[in-house]
Amino acid sequence: MSQDMEVINKACPCGSGKPFTYCCEPIVQGQKSAPTAEALMRSRYTAFALGAIDYLIDTTAPENRRDDDAELLADQVKYTNWTGLKILSKDQGGRSDESGMVEFEADFETEDQSGTLYEKSNFRRDQGSWLYVDGEVEVRT
Ligand SMILES: [Zn+2]
Repeated sequence: MSQDMEVINKACPCGSGKPFTYCCEPIVQGQKSAPTAEALMRSRYTAFALGAIDYLIDTTAPENRRDDDAELLADQVKYTNWTGLKILSKDQGGRSDESGMVEFEADFETEDQSGTLYEKSNFRRDQGSWLYVDGEVEVRT
């Protein structure tokens, strides 16, 4: 198998079961926008897993961005290893909706603990692109 084929066949970190190249990669790289709130949520999980900090900032609603986001995210990405994503439920967030909610669990490991981040995330569509607005977060270790 050539190296290119291996890249194409690599499973997407978001756990969709699809190859990375056909799932989150074009979204995280800005070649295509996420068609649904769930797709944006998955691509943000993948961006966390890969350390794509700019993408995480770009897909956060402007009013909820903070000056130190880049620094905080850089630390988080460095010390946290994301090991699995499970979508629990969603409400709206479809191709013809303007807002949506996705409830999910994401497993993680740090140097000294492992745990699960549980979140109900709110998204909205802004000029055709989905943005992460905010969420109710609970971390279980
Ligand atoms: Zn994906």
